Amino acid sequence: MPRKGRELPLHELSVMSQVADSIIRLAKERQAIKVENVHIQVGELTFLVDDQLQFAWEIYTKDLGPPLEGAVLTLERLQARGSCPACMYSGPLKVVEFPESHFSTPVLDCPECGAVVEVTEGRDLIIRDIRLQVPDVEGVTEDV
Ligand SMILES: [Zn+2]
Repeated sequence: MPRKGRELPLHELSVMSQVADSIIRLAKERQAIKVENVHIQVGELTFLVDDQLQFAWEIYTKDLGPPLEGAVLTLERLQARGSCPACMYSGPLKVVEFPESHFSTPVLDCPECGAVVEVTEGRDLIIRDIRLQVPDVEGVTEDV
């Protein structure tokens, strides 16, 4: 299954395997002949890499065949948010940048007071929308 010459993104593979399983289950329930598009929101704090997710998706959609074969994956980043128990701040997490390595990451220090915030958003990967082709309504796609 894996291609040669590229290191396999194990985290992304295992996540996308679960995503593929649940989409296939849903497609079967709806008797879909084809999954057209899957829209996924990826929380910043999942530390999943878009490229790697797409790569893993390609592997599964090819390997598993219909109805998943050829399904397009749309990824959207979801900003990490939190709330501070000390000063009641609520909003996006503070982001620390490392310009030399072109890397930035959200941190848990409250942007207002420096206390540790509780993360409210950005930890999850969410299947936002799935478009299926269902045979009895030909050509019509269904939003799930
Ligand atoms: Zn605070």
